This record gives sequence, structure tokens and C-alpha cells, in this order.
Amino acid sequence: MKFLRVLLVLSIFASCATEDDYVPYEIEQVFSENLDKVIKVDIIYVQPSNKSSKVSYGLNENHFITNLNGSFFHRYGIGLEMGEVKTLYNDELYDLKDNRGEESRVFLRETQDFYNTNRINIYVMKRSNTVAIAGIGKDKRALITDEFLYTSTAPHEIGHALGLHHYPEEGNIMSQIRPYLRKDFTNAQVDTLKETLDKISE
Ligand SMILES: [Zn+2]
Repeated sequence: MKFLRVLLVLSIFASCATEDDYVPYEIEQVFSENLDKVIKVDIIYVQPSNKSSKVSYGLNENHFITNLNGSFFHRYGIGLEMGEVKTLYNDELYDLKDNRGEESRVFLRETQDFYNTNRINIYVMKRSNTVAIAGIGKDKRALITDEFLYTSTAPHEIGHALGLHHYPEEGNIMSQIRPYLRKDFTNAQVDTLKETLDKISE
């Protein structure tokens, strides 16, 4: 029993630092003007401290946010709004290969002084600079590797960032199995998301 509890705590802390599926989602886009909660999202590109080695991410931030709204959030009365676009120069986070098994810890540590506590903070980094990480999410922060921005990893990590844990049912956004099927939140999860958003106010 004690062992189980330790495992559970570990798995919550480790979030979902595991390999994901490369299949992009195909979900009917639903947009609503009657939103219960709206939250700003900052996009933060992770770059090496040597600025001449900067990489390009080629992300259209507005398209990314609109797509998340249409595919996953507006249908539940939750709206994501584009905030600031920033850059974090951080070698530890830029190349996570050196921190295998410690990715979640390093992510939270290296971003603790570089996030807006009143927003969702999405950090974008190169998938090729990790060993097997699609994304990490916790405490208003979501790390999403560039190859997974348009997969269900994005809403999954945002779910973690807003307080959701893993959920075993196939098709649920917080499921760890068959990621390409993930598309729904349960009513209880939506309540949790909205409660968290209530606490985050600017
Ligand atoms: Zn997860």
C-alpha cells in the first residue's frame, strides 16, 4: 500500500514525460461566443544562451491558439486568448537530453522565475533535444515539443497545467493510452479547469 502511494505520487510529479503519438488530431472545429472563462496564453520559445545558435520554430501562434479553441476548449465554454510571445534563453531546458529522467524537475526549476502566474505559459522546444518527451505540464506551465504542437499532447499538457491528472479512459484528453484518440474532457474535468481558471485572475 505504501509502495503504491509512493508510485502514485511519483507518477503525478513526473507528469507525462513519456513518448507520445505522432498522429495529428482531426476534430471538428467548434467556436462559441458564449464563454464562461477566458485565459491568456503566453508562448515562450526556448533558445540556447548562445544567441547565434538560435533555432527557428516556424509556429503561427494565433493559428495554434485558434486551433486549440476550436478543437478542444470552446465547446466547454473555455477560451484561450493570445498573450505575449517571449523567448527564454536557457541551456538546461533547451537541451534536455542531458537531463534524462529529470525532465519534469528541470522544466519546473528552470521556468520558476520565468512564467506569468495569471496565465497559461506554453514553452516550445525542439523535440530533437529530448530523448522521449512529447510534453510536460504542471502549475500553469506546459512544455510542448515542436513536433507535438498540433497533436493531442497540447490540450493534454494544458490540462496538467490547470490541475488535471491522468485519466484512464480511452478518448479522454488526459488519457495516456492511444493519444491519437484523445478528444474529450469529462464534466468533472471541465469543472476543475474552470475552478483553476477562477483562481487565476489578472
Ligand atoms: Zn500526462
